[in-house]
Amino acid sequence: MHLLCLAAMLVVLFNNFSVLQRGPSYMRFVVNSTEFPSQDYHGCAIVGSSTTGYTFTQSLPQSYRVLLLELGGVPYGGKPKLMTRGGLLSTLTEVDEYDSPAQAFLSEDGVHTGGILGGSRAINAGFYSLADPDFCLKSDVDWDLALDNQSYEWVEKEIVFRPELRNWQSAVRDGLLEAGVDPFHGFTLDHRVETKIVGSTFDGAGRRHSSADLLNNANAANIKVAVYANVERVLVASTAQLAGPRQTTIGVVYWDRNGKYHHAMVRPNGEVLLSAGAIGSPQLLLLSGIGPRPYLSSWGIPVAYHLPYVGQYLYDNPRNGISIVPPMPPEQSLIQVVGITKVGAYLEAASNVVPFSTPPRSVFIRTPSPPLYITVATLMEKISGPMVRFSYFSDPVNVEKCVNGTRKIGEILRTRSMRYFMFREWFGSSRFRFVGPPLPDDQIGLLSDGKVLQAHCHHYMASPRWLCCGVIGSPRVVDGSTFAISPAN
Ligand SMILES: Cc1cc2nc3c(=O)[nH]c(=O)nc-3n(C[C@H](O)[C@H](O)[C@H](O)COP(=O)(O)OP(=O)(O)OC[C@H]3O[C@@H](n4cnc5c(N)ncnc54)[C@H](O)[C@@H]3O)c2cc1C
Repeated sequence: MHLLCLAAMLVVLFNNFSVLQRGPSYMRFVVNSTEFPSQDYHGCAIVGSSTTGYTFTQSLPQSYRVLLLELGGVPYGGKPKLMTRGGLLSTLTEVDEYDSPAQAFLSEDGVHTGGILGGSRAINAGFYSLADPDFCLKSDVDWDLALDNQSYEWVEKEIVFRPELRNWQSAVRDGLLEAGVDPFHGFTLDHRVETKIVGSTFDGAGRRHSSADLLNNANAANIKVAVYANVERVLVASTAQLAGPRQTTIGVVYWDRNGKYHHAMVRPNGEVLLSAGAIGSPQLLLLSGIGPRPYLSSWGIPVAYHLPYVGQYLYDNPRNGISIVPPMPPEQSLIQVVGITKVGAYLEAASNVVPFSTPPRSVFIRTPSPPLYITVATLMEKISGPMVRFSYFSDPVNVEKCVNGTRKIGEILRTRSMRYFMFREWFGSSRFRFVGPPLPDDQIGLLSDGKVLQAHCHHYMASPRWLCCGVIGSPRVVDGSTFAISPAN
């Protein structure tokens, strides 16, 4: 038995070692865009590697020659922080304009998107759960639910893992139940109101898996992936074959890292698919002259097709929360336990090592202090889909949802399960050490005028979700930007 275990361990170690040495098997067909000719022809050009784009590469006929164009590089080699659970915060904070896996979006809200093969899934917190069935009904998409569930089974087999709860996540689970977010559903990938353990795209060793891994199943004979390929616009041509004028896409223009332009054209009956994400796909449509005529004209972009809602209705799931430094550092963890309240707040937790800057030791002698790292435990709430104009809480309904969630966080902090994470004070009292904005002390009292909790709701964090861009025949858009609403998780 022991020998068998040892043999199995050696196989796993060897596999991991060979992946590190050779890279994932999809590297056989990943090429830097500088090596592509200035013009070539394909059966299908997919722009952007958001999750749906990958799935398409698997479902297209074998005879199709597929080109997937991705703005960023590969999540492998030279990016050790990106690939581990503990490296999440560094990945999100070490952002540059050129090569960082996380790319800042121009807004005052600190929004990021993934600029790397695998898209935002390659930089995200790895929390995996199926959407609320209500989302499927309201999303304006005509789902084939049986096929849909079958596809998810395949994704789950490849990249979703059951997390093992340790002290902080276990305490949050118990705290949620004590605070009345019950019953407990155990581990399930299904959407469940109340408390459950969710799936994670980080494996037991803390290694990240993303939709990029799904490319390992692609047929190398009919796919090429061009990385560092920045698609500038989709080429739209008129065709008079059908009654009345009709637009069709004939290819895309992209530039490589050397600033050289390339044309990736599609053969007759081929097509261009946009899978550049919530922000990227509508942006590309607008740059290609597909969008609201007055807006395009105001930027001097020739109008190829007037589509009034492109670039409208941006939704996000803002997060609010509190962070504490516990007396004993907890494990590092990303979202593993979730409590969904009946009023629509999603309560989640994480614990991360963060750099901590100490004040100078003396006012007179300013010696540089060595970097200090502390483990911070965070409890947060997310609320589902307010429409954003990047002023997240202008709608009182969203403020109310946020206040309810914040009040629930207060209730969890007062449970017995959380005592272990408090510091003992003189005279036997205990308190939390907050990092960043603390939770208002007397929440219940202050809720009568609501002002303090409402103010807390403006300390939010954001990550982009969906941008509804309306329906268009060509190019087809195959990412979340086509949904009418956003699932909260
Ligand atoms: C910090 C963070 C944490 C998150 N945590 C979670 C979580 O725990 N669980 C969860 O379910 N969701 C999470 N999300 C959301 C989730 O990752 C996204 O909703 C999901 O990845 C889909 O994103 P998308 O459709 O916008 O496309 P993306 O995944 O962003 O993909 C778009 C791709 O297109 C590429 N692209 C864009 N423009 C161009 C262009 N012009 N030319 C070529 N390529 C282009 C981009 O480089 C990118 O690779 C998180 C998101 C962020 C940012």
